[in-house]
Amino acid sequence: MRLSVIVPAYNEEKNLAVNIGKFNGYLSQQDYDYEIIIVNDGSADGTEKIAKTLVAGNENVKLIDNKKNRGKGAAVRQGLLSARGEYRLFIDADNATSIDHTDKIWAFFNDGYDIIIGSRNSRDAEGAYQALPQPAWKRFLGTCGNRVIQSLAIKDIYDTQCGFKAFTKKTVEKIIPKTTINRWVFDVEILAIAQSAGYKIAAIPVRWINSPNSRVGVKGYFSSFLEIIKIKRNLITGKYNSRH
Ligand code: UDP
Ligand code: MG
Repeated sequence: MRLSVIVPAYNEEKNLAVNIGKFNGYLSQQDYDYEIIIVNDGSADGTEKIAKTLVAGNENVKLIDNKKNRGKGAAVRQGLLSARGEYRLFIDADNATSIDHTDKIWAFFNDGYDIIIGSRNSRDAEGAYQALPQPAWKRFLGTCGNRVIQSLAIKDIYDTQCGFKAFTKKTVEKIIPKTTINRWVFDVEILAIAQSAGYKIAAIPVRWINSPNSRVGVKGYFSSFLEIIKIKRNLITGKYNSRH
């Protein structure tokens, strides 16, 4: 199988059916085989029921159904590791980065890149922009957060948090089992491990359409800060170098 698309879903009853429809619509037009793996992250709304209907209606759609909410990082990790594709992409359920950005990943994989990230920052990828921007406080905290991230864990990536990242199978198998972060900054951990081990990372420009019902609150930014410190500690102590 060529492509696995992992969709973490927490209380996505409003978005899920429409967007899985869009993902399927796009992927069924491509000349490769694919699977879509919805990972229900312990949703308290109708997400599970809707996901089950989607699975019943399409053999390409699968569901990992968790009863407990553990965070986007945990959901994505589970999806990436259970996927079967030679290439594995995770994408937000609200389609903030639309699925057709997938067109742009192949040239980089063909050039030998291991990880392709979507970026909303033109310093990573020319042409990136927020067509419907995040609220000002989020952009501000995002910029501050990126300064912290770049001073502690990551080099030269200005948007580590975009919900659109693709990996080769080998990269998933080598890096993802080493990850420990279950919530928002799991992306930082993946990229930090990848950079320190010399993986090739490329960024594609994203046209981001912000969706109003985001679940990252102010609290999320503070706990993320502590998690970035934890990543730094793991980098220093060589925890990510140990074999699994
Ligand atoms: N998500 C998840 N578990 C959580 C919170 C969010 O799986 O505890 C999923 C959510 O359903 C979406 C993605 O993570 O697919 C990004 O979440 P959201 O859109 O709230 O974040 P933002 O757009 O603000 O980055
Ligand atoms: Mg969102």
